[in-house]
Amino acid sequence: MRRQTAWHTIRQLDAETYQISEPLGAVEPRYGVRTVNMYLVLGQVRAVLLDSGMGIGDLRTLTGSITRLPLQIVNTHYHWDHSGGNARFAQRAIHALDAAALAVRPDLGDLAQQMRRPAAQAVLPAGFDVDSYVIDAQPATHQLADGDVLELGGRSLRVLHTPGHTPGHCAFWDQERGMLFSGDAAYQGAMFSCFADCDVQATVESAQCLAALCGVRLVCPGHLDSFADSGWLQQLAAGLAAAASGRVAAQRTSEFVGGREVCFDSFSIWLPLA
Ligand SMILES: [Zn+2]
Ligand SMILES: [Zn+2]
Repeated sequence: MRRQTAWHTIRQLDAETYQISEPLGAVEPRYGVRTVNMYLVLGQVRAVLLDSGMGIGDLRTLTGSITRLPLQIVNTHYHWDHSGGNARFAQRAIHALDAAALAVRPDLGDLAQQMRRPAAQAVLPAGFDVDSYVIDAQPATHQLADGDVLELGGRSLRVLHTPGHTPGHCAFWDQERGMLFSGDAAYQGAMFSCFADCDVQATVESAQCLAALCGVRLVCPGHLDSFADSGWLQQLAAGLAAAASGRVAAQRTSEFVGGREVCFDSFSIWLPLA
């Protein structure tokens, strides 16, 4: 099932799990990533929203139309396109190593200029004001650690600390349903390990950790479409290891991204400029 609001695209993955997507690539095309996702994960007594997107559109009304359960934001990592809606929710959790960065208003560079392009204006919701758009950064109210279990009532998510993309990046594992919420540690597109606080070796090891999970049926990533896993996480881990060790050469560099891109069939990885 799929429905569309003035901004968000909602896909129901099962009776208690919703993917909510935003058209990131229409607003900021220079990363080459079409969409950013958050996930509304319902238990019997409470719900979590894994990430809060770009802070555009009425996320509170949207989540309220799906569930009345008490709702907490749980961030995969601090980046603005995953935490932009945090301030609209009272309860916000993130790994301890990303907590300081989450509390600081991000520098959005010349994003406003990108948002004024006609292609961006065509998808931004009516009434959205580029000039007053800021990410209202707020400190986390809870901190996460590897191995924590988020108990939702009849459903639980295990916190998997998967650093590399950021120091405190986490994935979330619903073992019973075989659903892996992989954030920016694994998706089928251009992945990034080239920013100032990225760690390439940790990116490889985190992918290996995800590839070692038994019983992954559905990967629910931070960008692009969810997909059934049949060995792809192993391919990702092997590809990232080959890229990191220099066994596969970069195809291009980008000044905007600040990296060099090593490409594989179903994904690529941006590494720091040499
Ligand atoms: Zn990110
Ligand atoms: Zn991201």
